[in-house]
Amino acid sequence: MAPKKGFEVAIIGGGIAGLTLAIALHHRGVKVVIYEQAAHFAEIGAGVSFTPNAVAAMQHCHPEVHAAFEKIRTGNLWPSKKNVWFDYHDGYHAKKHETFAFSITSSLGQAGVHRARYLDELVKLLPGECARFGKRLEGWERNARTGRWRVRFEDGSEATADAIIGCDGIKSKVRQLLYGDHPCSHPTFTHKYAYRALATMDDAIKAVGEEKAKNSCMHMGPGGHMLTFPVNHGQTLNIVAFHTTQSDWPDYNKLTRPATREDALRDFANYGPDVTNLLKLCQPSLDVWAIFHLGDHPVPEYAKGSICLVGDAAHATSPHHGAGAGFCIEDSAVLSDLLADERVRTQSDIETAFAVYDSVRRERGNWLVQSSQHIGNCYEWIGEGVGEDFGRVEREIRTRNGVIADVDVEGMCREAVGVLRGRLGGDEGARL
Ligand SMILES: Cc1cc2nc3c(=O)[nH]c(=O)nc-3n(C[C@H](O)[C@H](O)[C@H](O)COP(=O)(O)OP(=O)(O)OC[C@H]3O[C@@H](n4cnc5c(N)ncnc54)[C@H](O)[C@@H]3O)c2cc1C
Repeated sequence: MAPKKGFEVAIIGGGIAGLTLAIALHHRGVKVVIYEQAAHFAEIGAGVSFTPNAVAAMQHCHPEVHAAFEKIRTGNLWPSKKNVWFDYHDGYHAKKHETFAFSITSSLGQAGVHRARYLDELVKLLPGECARFGKRLEGWERNARTGRWRVRFEDGSEATADAIIGCDGIKSKVRQLLYGDHPCSHPTFTHKYAYRALATMDDAIKAVGEEKAKNSCMHMGPGGHMLTFPVNHGQTLNIVAFHTTQSDWPDYNKLTRPATREDALRDFANYGPDVTNLLKLCQPSLDVWAIFHLGDHPVPEYAKGSICLVGDAAHATSPHHGAGAGFCIEDSAVLSDLLADERVRTQSDIETAFAVYDSVRRERGNWLVQSSQHIGNCYEWIGEGVGEDFGRVEREIRTRNGVIADVDVEGMCREAVGVLRGRLGGDEGARL
């Protein structure tokens, strides 16, 4: 769509947050360029699942963002499990396959995609000129006269923009530049790490039987849990096994470290056969993923002036609610409506739009970070006041999933625009 606005937005980072935001802005007539450090849009080969609020946000960003998801999503393969989000199992005590504890359902059920494939589909929705690659953010300066930003990249190149939006993930450089010595510049290790693997569906069926391979399962245990759900239209099973450790993460600068299948089996020693049989399907050498988050030091404000933070850059969360990516898309829905509003024309209007985005999104984003850490502990029977009581674990999940899923995304966007209009009023300000 031809730009309707006189200002230009630089998005740093092209993950799920950066791409959905860029698509939503581009199709609302806002000039936008993504600056991505990688040589092309790329993602780790892993699965990501979405909840009903995420789907509503996709639809709001642009119907094609939702259509891309529908094209590649995989649900549970048995019709009787259509609305099951996860079947929860005792993955530890049971030495046979009778392990069922309870089931959590939702209107969407389980909806997983292969992340790399979803990004591939999203990229198609953005004209080539809206993305520049090999652009790793280094710093910025503001022109005191025009208020425009000169953005510097590590390859020595520069770009200019009226506003900068950090979609650069958990270790966001934009956040570091904004907050300097504040502890939110550096997310902390949650003392959980994860083994991730993809197994063929045939192998998975041999390991755990058809019901548990073809439908999403959460295998709980003391200090560890494993989740599985089908992706690639049921040809592949996505496996993520979390382990809680007392140790620190060896290298803050790296989110992964090499490990072996034996390491995984050692971490889950004494677990039931479902967990250990699935771990045996992992490659002999695999990466362990450190789970970092902003739970210890939340970001004080998601925006300062004409710079703002979206997605993990703003509210990097552990993945135990399966909602981090969905919240990225909620952010994109709200922020794109604000920036596209007809009253937003000047730098000062953009700053107001960013301040409204902060006021609408921060409480919910920061809540997710805290709640996710708690619920991950509940899956591992170390949740405060919950322990190994499955009735309590189930209640915690139901209540918190309700907060995540039962949100009126359209209403949230409308409310944000209402607040913006209230703040901007009829004051035209100094136009760009
Ligand atoms: C094990 C695991 C499982 C998960 N499962 C789920 C799930 O099932 N459901 C769910 O909703 N969420 C899940 N999440 C969370 C979800 O993956 C994240 O919340 C989401 O992907 C964050 O997207 P983002 O775009 O904010 O950041 P990212 O995906 O991290 O993208 C950031 C982008 O910025 C680029 N970048 C970084 N620094 C710079 C720089 N200086 N200059 C330029 N570019 C830069 C990076 O290359 C990258 O492309 C999971 C997370 C983990 C770790």
